Amino acid sequence: MIYLDNAATTKPHAEAFERARVYAEEKFYNPSALYNEGYALQGELKTARSALLSKVADENTFELVFTSCGTESDNQAIFSFARRGNAVTTAGEHSAVAAAFAELKNRGVAEPRFAPLQKDGCVNVEKLLALIDEKTSFVSVMHVNNELGSINDINAIAKLVKQKNPRVIFHSDGVQAYGKIPFRLGKEVDLYSVSAHKIGGLKGVGALIKRKSLTLPPYLIGGGQESGKRSGTENTFGIKQFEYAAQAKFASLEADFKRLTAYRETLWEALDKSVYSRLSPQDGTPYILSVSAIGLRGEILLHMANDKGLIVGTGSACSSNVKTRYSKTVLACGHDTKTADGVLRLSFSGETTEAEIEQAAAILNEIGRDLKRRMQ
Ligand code: PLP
Repeated sequence: MIYLDNAATTKPHAEAFERARVYAEEKFYNPSALYNEGYALQGELKTARSALLSKVADENTFELVFTSCGTESDNQAIFSFARRGNAVTTAGEHSAVAAAFAELKNRGVAEPRFAPLQKDGCVNVEKLLALIDEKTSFVSVMHVNNELGSINDINAIAKLVKQKNPRVIFHSDGVQAYGKIPFRLGKEVDLYSVSAHKIGGLKGVGALIKRKSLTLPPYLIGGGQESGKRSGTENTFGIKQFEYAAQAKFASLEADFKRLTAYRETLWEALDKSVYSRLSPQDGTPYILSVSAIGLRGEILLHMANDKGLIVGTGSACSSNVKTRYSKTVLACGHDTKTADGVLRLSFSGETTEAEIEQAAAILNEIGRDLKRRMQ
């Protein structure tokens, strides 16, 4: 089976899994316990926290709070900092941000405002800034778009946002960026969400990186773990496995970036242009190539590919509901519903090989031509 749906989740890093095994089998104690065996784990968590944070941020300025996933990190940021007035985000956010913004309205907390996208999937910065006024409390702009792979220059955007309203809290969803693109958090970014399972970690482990000077109201209240910022017994095994997986991923970040950029282009070159049109921008993340078989259903192609041993993602949800059938990101880029219907998302990992790319292209061409013929 060729797996090209790594933006959905990646295979856990085997070596990191083995290294972390001791925390599941032997060092299984509660890190909040007072006896030596439990207390010692606090030190192990501190090491993980520092290792994961230092890869993207200055440890004197930022700190890291472990959560259960990227969705929780996004939700905690939004519900902790969006205040009366309005909150601004983009039309291309993952549902972890988009649905939470919609919920701000349902709860009567703040008016959500959505900035439009450009054709390349990046937010239109001018229009984003136009939505920000003196009543804006919170702004969230994703770093790498999970559908098209477009990269927003969040450090530059955060700077412009703060110039317009210095009281705004700026958050970015970095789930598809962390460990994949070279980057360090600038001083205008306040909050940054990451998730382990996109880079060889396990599902159910995430983190919210925050500016130290910012007081984070807890979203989960209870035993006071994570210095009172996020209660719940820490997933020591998952956190250590995340630390080790990130260590491996960051060590090969530059090399993977170069190699996957070449693979993405090889795959695009090999695809039959009478079937597929490219949606992903050239300067997007090398980990994602989104294409559309305009006039065909992406969902049908996904199943045809699956039968031939290729796993890919699609832009549309498995729904006939017009509201959820089409990828709102693709529509927000100005594409029509025919294009949005035909989306296939091909996403890679550091483990993807050139041979897999070549085989995937052959399968995609075969099924695309076949379906097109049958539709005529
Ligand atoms: N944000 C983005 C951009 C994502 O791609 C995802 C997962 O697909 C999430 C948030 C949610 O992360 P998690 O699955 O850890 O909740």
